[in-house]
Amino acid sequence: MHDVLIIGAGPAGLSAARWCDELGLDTLVLEQREEVGGQLLSVYNPIENYLGLRVANGRDLRDRFVDQTKDCDFDLWTNVEIESVDLKARRVVLRSGEQLHSIAIIIATGLRRRKLGIPGEDEFRGRGLMESATRDRDQLAGKDVCVIGGGDAAAENALLLAEVCPTVTLVHRGRKLRGRREFIEKLHTNNCITVFPESVVRRIIGHEQVEAVEIERAGAIKPFQMAVQGVLVRVGFQPNTELFQSTLEMDERGYVIVGSQQETSVGNVFAIGDVANPVAPTISSAVGAGATAAKVIAARLNAVQNRLR
Ligand SMILES: Cc1cc2nc3c(=O)[nH]c(=O)nc-3n(C[C@H](O)[C@H](O)[C@H](O)COP(=O)(O)OP(=O)(O)OC[C@H]3O[C@@H](n4cnc5c(N)ncnc54)[C@H](O)[C@@H]3O)c2cc1C
Repeated sequence: MHDVLIIGAGPAGLSAARWCDELGLDTLVLEQREEVGGQLLSVYNPIENYLGLRVANGRDLRDRFVDQTKDCDFDLWTNVEIESVDLKARRVVLRSGEQLHSIAIIIATGLRRRKLGIPGEDEFRGRGLMESATRDRDQLAGKDVCVIGGGDAAAENALLLAEVCPTVTLVHRGRKLRGRREFIEKLHTNNCITVFPESVVRRIIGHEQVEAVEIERAGAIKPFQMAVQGVLVRVGFQPNTELFQSTLEMDERGYVIVGSQQETSVGNVFAIGDVANPVAPTISSAVGAGATAAKVIAARLNAVQNRLR
């Protein structure tokens, strides 16, 4: 029996663990990936907006977070596969069969990139379907590429790729792009970039590598194929909440609904970071929410212990 089980070791989970440790709570952190850090591991640009630190990329910030938890006593298990969670009983069952119990649970499972769910998407990952315009710039240089999505991230990535690619086609579902005005203006004045509104990529095609995408445009009689050697998908994020779907109150997009103390609809279960922040997900808010949850749990446990004395 632990005082606190934290699910997820991104900025929110690590911050909560650091605070739980400082407040004397017996804490176990469960992370599904081999490495901690969450989305920070896919930030390849400098991070300038986390107050107090300027870092070259997300991994640098992750390393600093880890460094600051080195002397802590909390347990951290990585590569963990959770089979099921009974939030009311505060019991986590692992795929290995092991059962873990705690007084409180903190959900810090964050977000993952939304997938298109189309043929070729899994097959060509890393073989033309790339993860980041910054990280994969050299591999995409000189190639015709297609960026899929209509928000800031899609616009920004299209502009970055246009610096090194002969043609960039931005394909998006809506009638208008949703990105920042400065990005949209630059997109429309860049000769390398073509924007296809009201269009959907139906398939990614190729043999060893991506060779084309099949596009369906509103008003067109049938889909057509466009030759490209690179594809980047930026169609948003979705919360990692499938494990908790039947028990927790969530909004229509699957984000956990919390109160001002990060408490969820189930007693002694808290949710922190992006998974409970559909409006303004940031590293700062994730780290802050971790501190809040830990302090609230510690105060509640102290109050119970004082009553028992
Ligand atoms: C490209 C990019 C650039 C960004 N730039 C900035 C920026 O400049 N400034 C800024 O403030 N923010 C930025 N962000 C956002 C920032 O990274 C997030 O707000 C932050 O990482 C959220 O932290 P989190 O801990 O809530 O979630 P995450 O970072 O998503 O971490 C969640 C963790 O939970 C784990 N997990 C999920 N499900 C399970 C499970 N079932 N069992 C166990 N573990 C699980 C995941 O593996 C992950 O490690 C950026 C994000 C991206 C992708």
